[in-house]
Amino acid sequence: MQQQGFGSRKECRQLIEAGLVLVDGEEPADYRQAVEPASVGELVVDGEIWEPVALPLYLMMHKPAGYETSHKPMHHPSVFSLLPWQFSMMDISAVGRLDVDTTGLLLFTTDGRFVHALTSPRRHVPKCYEILLKHPVDEAFAAHLKKGVFLRDDNERVAADAVELVDEITVRMTISQGKYHQVKRMVAAAGNRVSELHRLAFGELELGSLEEGQWRHLSGAERGAFG
Ligand code: URA
Repeated sequence: MQQQGFGSRKECRQLIEAGLVLVDGEEPADYRQAVEPASVGELVVDGEIWEPVALPLYLMMHKPAGYETSHKPMHHPSVFSLLPWQFSMMDISAVGRLDVDTTGLLLFTTDGRFVHALTSPRRHVPKCYEILLKHPVDEAFAAHLKKGVFLRDDNERVAADAVELVDEITVRMTISQGKYHQVKRMVAAAGNRVSELHRLAFGELELGSLEEGQWRHLSGAERGAFG
């Protein structure tokens, strides 16, 4: 039960001793009774049927605006509140962060190596964003971002891998670094401002038709794409 995120050993023991756990319709005789997970037909905890979770977890969410990418949010609800509460007991983390007002593809996992593989600066994993701008732009703006800009407090030039104009106030930009507020700072350094920011893709993974606020497990092939 601990592995499935029902809390500490003590909390799990309390759930069992309070008679809130049924294994195939029966209350376990003793909280120490060993039960082979594969042999459990149905686990009911506090009146709800629990579908066992296979670990490690790899998830994708369509993050809505107004949620903080943090377990300890300061001013807004946490993105973790959009996931089943048990996942938070399993040491789940977000793979990088999206700002509170940014929407789109956010990954989660309980696998620290997966986080490292996707966020290590040496791996250069591309992230694609759709950006709604405050002021109209033309190809010169795209060329400027592709050539690179200097960000304040950073003496290296940062360049976009690709910039595509969608219309005169919307661009799609791909970057392969992961600096703090990178898209907003690059756009500001190129003389414009972001009015809305949405992440479409992270490496090979695309948000597709996942609805805002929804999440899903990654397939084996999707996880494998990151080696
Ligand atoms: N760059 C930003 O400025 N904000 C995000 O949320 C993601 C990338």
